[in-house]
Amino acid sequence: MFKSVLIANRGEIACRIIKTCDRLNIQTIAVFSDADYEAKHTQLADLAIRIGPSNPAESYLNIDTIIAAAKKSGAEAIHPGYGFLSENPDFAQTVENNGIKFIGPDPEMIRLMGLKDQAKRIAQNAGVPVLQGYKAKNISKEKLLEEANRIGYPILLKAVAGGGGKGIRRINNETEFFAGFDQASKEAQLAFGNTEMMIEKFITRPRHIEVQVFGDNFGNRIHLFERDCSIQRKNQKLIEEAPAPNITTQVKEFLYEAALKLANAIDYKGAGTVEFIADASDEINVDKIWFLEMNTRLQVEHTVTEQITGLDLVEWQLRVANNEPLPLSQERVQIQGHSIEARICSEAVLEGYLPSIGKVNKVMLAENLRVENSIETWNSITPFYDSLLAKLIATGTTREQAIKELSKGMRQSEFGGIKTNLNLLVGIIDTPEFIHGDINTGFLDDYLPFPQQSEPPSNSVLILAAAAVVDFYLLQRRNWKTGFSHWHCHRQTIALNRSNIQYDLEVSFFNSNTFNLRFADAISKCQLTPRGLFIGLENVSHKVYVHNSQVSVYETGLWEFSFARKEFDHLDESRTSNLIISQVPGLLKLVNCKEGKTVSKGEILAYVEAMKMEFTLAAPSDCVIEKVFATNNSLIKAGEKIAQLSANN
Ligand code: ADP
Ligand code: ADP
Ligand code: MG
Repeated sequence: MFKSVLIANRGEIACRIIKTCDRLNIQTIAVFSDADYEAKHTQLADLAIRIGPSNPAESYLNIDTIIAAAKKSGAEAIHPGYGFLSENPDFAQTVENNGIKFIGPDPEMIRLMGLKDQAKRIAQNAGVPVLQGYKAKNISKEKLLEEANRIGYPILLKAVAGGGGKGIRRINNETEFFAGFDQASKEAQLAFGNTEMMIEKFITRPRHIEVQVFGDNFGNRIHLFERDCSIQRKNQKLIEEAPAPNITTQVKEFLYEAALKLANAIDYKGAGTVEFIADASDEINVDKIWFLEMNTRLQVEHTVTEQITGLDLVEWQLRVANNEPLPLSQERVQIQGHSIEARICSEAVLEGYLPSIGKVNKVMLAENLRVENSIETWNSITPFYDSLLAKLIATGTTREQAIKELSKGMRQSEFGGIKTNLNLLVGIIDTPEFIHGDINTGFLDDYLPFPQQSEPPSNSVLILAAAAVVDFYLLQRRNWKTGFSHWHCHRQTIALNRSNIQYDLEVSFFNSNTFNLRFADAISKCQLTPRGLFIGLENVSHKVYVHNSQVSVYETGLWEFSFARKEFDHLDESRTSNLIISQVPGLLKLVNCKEGKTVSKGEILAYVEAMKMEFTLAAPSDCVIEKVFATNNSLIKAGEKIAQLSANN
């Protein structure tokens, strides 16, 4: 086995790889950018080497610096993790050219699967069904539109070099085409430096099901069963599980065979994932399953496969790279139980999944679950990398049991100081549809629609939210001197905020666990008991969830409120004034944002590039730009003023 391995990555996956290396007595070498100088992966590794500034292009994507670090430290192999350089064939080639082992497939295999249109052609030739679509080199967007009209709407525009859900746009009709094309190709330019687009027939109620495959240098290739990754937001996976619920053995066998057909067609080596899309509008059958793409690396959600097979996939990767045969033959790989993974991301769900950035002041993670995490208290979440904070993985003998464990574990988990999607994850796990395995990629729109910002919450939603806040403060034994100290003698007010509107609810306490809540003329008696929070006779614990300064209520949709916490005040400034303020730090691109210019509602004034994404700042109403504070192409902070507009018309 290798004596030492350099891990060309960061975050949870770097920590995950180090764990296996430690167990196998392999020395680990971490690399880090300036933003990561205190990061956990640098502490866990035997050696850590700085590779440059925070910007990934100058550090985690800088091939020369990473190779230099490997040579200086004498690393025998490089594990690329996922994202970053993991699917870059030039990197894999350069590593090998320098006499270092690349832990992954040969550069040629990465290249073959790297562009989605080419991968589809290879799959089709191997007898794997693919979706109707179109792509030609240097094709004009007018020609692409013609093809879209021919295929019929809805269609999906996709960046051929895409990954991580970026550069994908659903187009519902001809009139949406050009605007969608421009947005998607711009996003693709930013994320992949390649603007080539293809179109594909859009499947309306799809499930994303993928097959883990593994190959070695001796012609052995096996599958490690399937995973369902249908719970997504913005075409990015949020919850993944293995095995996939509610599909027949016949469908499973079909998927395994199709995945191996493709892997065999390219003599695949190492860990890979063949992704499929299935039409789930009716029962899934083998005529309605198509190849999507192949990822030639370890997948974020490899954990659920490990849980049900009892294998360590990083160890398998290391063994294959070390020219050993696959540890097990197909017949000897068995499944036991069910496993579900949830991705905790730093983002403000109701603000369009806007990344949340800042210092983490508390980390609490479930004790009953497998946790893959790299964030520690006082770490900063920066705008430079993507928003995945940690993964929670629950395993049970049945799916039902895994869901129960996950739900319990999520309720015990918290990242303080930043906004996270934990409330949303709990909401998903607890819906009857998820529990029945009635899932598809449109799950969030179908079952947890966000109520329109303009739709007012009902009194009962407000009471539920306020009761949860009281519960939270009591449970947390918050600082009783800060406004909540006189509950017992006086009435207190809980201020909930949603879409710029403040709702004041009155709390009056009878004793430390019984109180009345009043909003307008609705009064409810609330009780905190060891069995949960009751309003009247109803146990409402499963409907409400508090996390940090957010409280969420699940009642025909997800209602989220914030409650006053001083440190977030600056974020609200943009909503209450005529200022254009970026909520995220990043690189500012002004668009015709000039003093004295008249702009109409919705007109784009600026973009901020952060966390590999682009955030748009638009005029909230018809108005005049009175002052511009920021300069084009500059790095701005969260909360920094960009422009001031005239009063709303
Ligand atoms: P998985 O399919 O393993 O869940 P994702 O597609 O969500 O993985 O991507 C895993 C990580 O890699 C994410 O951080 C994503 O942003 C990043 N990523 C994936 N593909 C690319 C790519 N082509 N270029 C840059 N980053 C990518
Ligand atoms: P990426 O490289 O970004 O992972 P994929 O091609 O794997 O891109 O697609 C990502 C997600 O987008 C899929 O998991 C699925 O939810 C959605 N998607 C992709 N292609 C289609 C399609 N033809 N119809 C409907 N949804 C699709
Ligand atoms: Mg994909």
